[in-house]
Parts: sequence; structure tokens; C-alpha cells
Amino acid sequence: MTRRVLLLGKPLRRRHSVEMHNAAFDAAGIDARYELAELDEADVRPAVAAARGPGFLGLGVTAPYKQLVAGLVDEVEEDAAEIGAVNNVVRADDGRLIGFNSDAPGFRAGAELALGRPLAGLGVVVAGAGGAAHAVVYACVRAGARRVDIANRTPESGADLVAQFTASANSSGTTLAGISYVDPAYMSVVRAADLAVNATTVGMLHPGMTIPVEELPAGATVFDLVYVPAETPLVRAARERGLRAANGSEMLIQQAAIAFERWTGIGGMAGVMRAAVAPLLADPSVRA
Ligand code: NAP
Repeated sequence: MTRRVLLLGKPLRRRHSVEMHNAAFDAAGIDARYELAELDEADVRPAVAAARGPGFLGLGVTAPYKQLVAGLVDEVEEDAAEIGAVNNVVRADDGRLIGFNSDAPGFRAGAELALGRPLAGLGVVVAGAGGAAHAVVYACVRAGARRVDIANRTPESGADLVAQFTASANSSGTTLAGISYVDPAYMSVVRAADLAVNATTVGMLHPGMTIPVEELPAGATVFDLVYVPAETPLVRAARERGLRAANGSEMLIQQAAIAFERWTGIGGMAGVMRAAVAPLLADPSVRA
């Protein structure tokens, strides 16, 4: 029996996950396929129920169903519950479905590769307060960042994000604060940052940049979660200034490898996945 992992979402335009996971199944000699399932909301509940069957290894979950699926599985792991998003589900041998989040550890692995050092002790500025920013802030707090400043266009969402992670930040000794892009203090925060993260759709769906690159200190690293286009304006500006900079492709690969290991028990697939997705990442006709 060919087992399946379905990615639930709508719309589903990108094939990056399909290429990565199917290359990894082939390399591992596992008879399974990763397929896109673009579903209306009413069809999500039956799709999740079907995944309890032995033909499934699990599910991938993307926008707009990360919260909905969290309410349909049998268990949500602690970190996914705290982040407020399930982006993958693993089927246990007894058919129970366990929701987990691979974006936070994927971000941490990708960012630490870009930094060349651990997140612990660093000052981080994060632009954005949406789904991805929740995983980024959670990862920074859990990794023991010294401080995390969250800038967002809509200040209320930034304040909500700060409130959501304040207890965790207190227990890991991280100073957590929200700020507006137009607050003059934003420049001071940027001038003191070791790591600047773009977790917005700016650079992908919208032109411009969320981080004033010229204000970053010389030793800072820029990490843009956007990976389409491959070189965002932010990444280009950071490289032109001689800063370390990376787009979100490594986070994408690392989070996929983490999910694959949960479904199959087989780790170490990031290299296979990186090679499989490289043509898509380099293809300028793949658009946001
Ligand atoms: P989301 O939940 O829709 O959040 C969007 C964020 O972008 C919000 O903070 C929003 O601010 C901000 N924003 C949108 N338009 C803006 C503008 N014109 N100016 C300033 N801020 C703006 O999206 P998401 O799921 O967090 O995804 C964010 C980005 O991360 C996307 O580009 C996505 O592709 C990328 N991502 C990458 C990976 C990876 O593995 N590399 C994983 C997940 C996500 P408001 O609150 O003010 O609306």
C-alpha cells in the first residue's frame, strides 16, 4: 500500500513541499507520496478524519487551516499549542492524530545556520506579528535570546503577540517588547540588534523593506522568511552592506526535514530536500 501525506490548504500554489518530501520518500525507499489537497473549509474535517486510517502517515497544514486543524486532532503538542498553529500532523500507530509545529524549530535551525552561532543571548528584532512571527518569537524565547523586539504595522497585533509569550519570556530571561515602525525608538532597537528577522509578506506580496538595513550594526545578520523571490530587497540591501543575510529557503527545508522525521522516523533528509527543491527556488517564473 502506498501511504500518503496530504497538505491541506487553500489556495495551494507552490510545489516546494511536494518536491522535497517525495524526493525524501524515494531516497529513503519508503512507499509513500506527499500530495496537495486544496480544500474548502467544509471538507477539512472529513479529510482529517480520513487521516486516522492506516493509509496515512500524517498531514501537512497550511493557511488558512492551521488553527482549524488544531481543533480536530486528538492531541496538540505543547509548543504548537503555545504558538497557536499546527502546521503538521503525525498519525500514531493506533490511529490517533498528533498536531505539531515544525516552523519554530525550522526557523531556529535556519537562523542559527545564517548566524553561525546559537540564538541564545542575542538581541533580535522581528518585523511582523502574523502566523510566522508567532513561531519565530517562540523559537527565540525558547532558545534564550537576550531580548526580542517585535515591530508590526498594526500595533495591536504586535501587543497581542508580546502578551502571548510574556510568561515564557519571563521564565527564559528574555526581554520582550512591542514597537511601531514609526516610533523613533525603532531605530535604537535596530541599531542594537544582532539578528533582524522579516516575518511579514513585505518583499513577497508588497514592495519595500521592514528593517532599515543602514541602521543595523556591522556584525548583524538579516534573516528574511520570504523565499520567493530568492533575493528579496532586504537580503540584497543587507548583502550590499556586507552583512550576513539569508532568505527563508533554509527554514523551509529544515522544517520539512523535521516533519519528515516525525512521519517516518528517518532523519538527515535536509540535504536530499535541499537538492530537490533547488530548481524551484532558483526558477524566476515561480511567483508569490
Ligand atoms: P500572515 O499571518 O498573513 O502575517 C502577515 C504579516 O505581514 C503581518 O504581520 C502583517 O502586518 C504584515 N504585513 C502585510 N503587509 C504588510 C505591509 N504592506 N507592510 C507592513 N507589514 C505588512 O502571514 P505569515 O503566515 O505570518 O507569513 C509571513 C511571511 O513569512 C510570508 O512571506 C510567508 O511566505 C513567510 N513564511 C516563510 C516560511 C519559511 O519556511 N521560510 C514559513 C512560514 C511563513 P499586519 O498585522 O499589520 O497586517
